[in-house]
Amino acid sequence: MAYDRNNIFAKILRGELPSVKVFEDEKTLAFMDIMPATEGHTLVIPKEEAETLFDLSGEGATNLIKTTKRVAMAVKKAFDCPGVMIAQLNGAAAGQTIPHIHVHILPRSQANFSLHGRTRADPGALEALADKIRSQL
Ligand code: 5GP
Repeated sequence: MAYDRNNIFAKILRGELPSVKVFEDEKTLAFMDIMPATEGHTLVIPKEEAETLFDLSGEGATNLIKTTKRVAMAVKKAFDCPGVMIAQLNGAAAGQTIPHIHVHILPRSQANFSLHGRTRADPGALEALADKIRSQL
């Protein structure tokens, strides 16, 4: 699908909508999430027009993760939080609501949310799944 230049983050990048900026360089922008899931919830976006990670150039991905690391370290120090969750959603089915790739930086002080399952998978089943992925690399 073509990139929608009217999405909220594109407007923030063009200065058409306000944002609370924490960091900006030539390739990336970090700003506070307007509806924070935890105190200090920060977003990082590339300036490149890309809806998801799959649309972003390799160089854009490098710049995005570099800024994410830098800002996440600052967030950790600023809030003295024992944990920082980094999340990035691709596609509405994954929960993405704004069609410009962004990384969430979430200060965490409690393990009250988990990406971890509870049941150990069958090793053979994991091999079969890994094979499927390897065949697409
Ligand atoms: P997604 O679900 O797409 O991964 O996350 C979108 C995030 O953008 C949400 O956490 C939401 O609170 C945030 N958000 C939505 N609209 C605005 C806005 O106008 N300004 C800012 N700073 N954040 C926004």
